[in-house]
Amino acid sequence: MQKRCLGCKREIARDLRECHFCGAPQSITRYYRNSVIFFIAFLAASVYGLYYLLQIANQQALNEQTQLLSETKTQSQKQLDSLQVQLDEAQAALEQANKAVAENEADQSSESAKLNQQLAKLKKALKEAENEAKKQSERAGWLSRENSRLKDELKESKAQLKEARSTSITQPKPLSDPIQ
Ligand SMILES: [Zn+2]
Repeated sequence: MQKRCLGCKREIARDLRECHFCGAPQSITRYYRNSVIFFIAFLAASVYGLYYLLQIANQQALNEQTQLLSETKTQSQKQLDSLQVQLDEAQAALEQANKAVAENEADQSSESAKLNQQLAKLKKALKEAENEAKKQSERAGWLSRENSRLKDELKESKAQLKEARSTSITQPKPLSDPIQ
């Protein structure tokens, strides 16, 4: 019985284990074993290569993410630092404002003390002026009373003089009235 060689396709005897032309094994399993092994090896290599590539891609993505995160962190830190500086400035300004307010209050209280002193002086001067006015008024009253007393005295004198004139015949001429 004849059959064709699995390798070279030439006619060989059926019971031959190997082709006597090309040396190819005539059992299907044995003939394709190498191919199967190669295929499996290729598949394994492919899977491993794919896995390796995926790992590299993952690592790259991770690296990129890490870098992005680090950049974001740096930027955030910068912003935070800037905010801290602004906060410090604002606090310094507030402190200065508080100090200015405190100083102003102190100035105002010393100003108010001065005003009180001036007011006390003015009150004293007013009191003195009032006393003086009272004195003057009393003096005016006294003068007025003295004036009316003098007037009364004068009237009396005039009356006496008139009486003396009317009773005296030897009087040569009437005296002129000195006060009218
Ligand atoms: Zn052959």
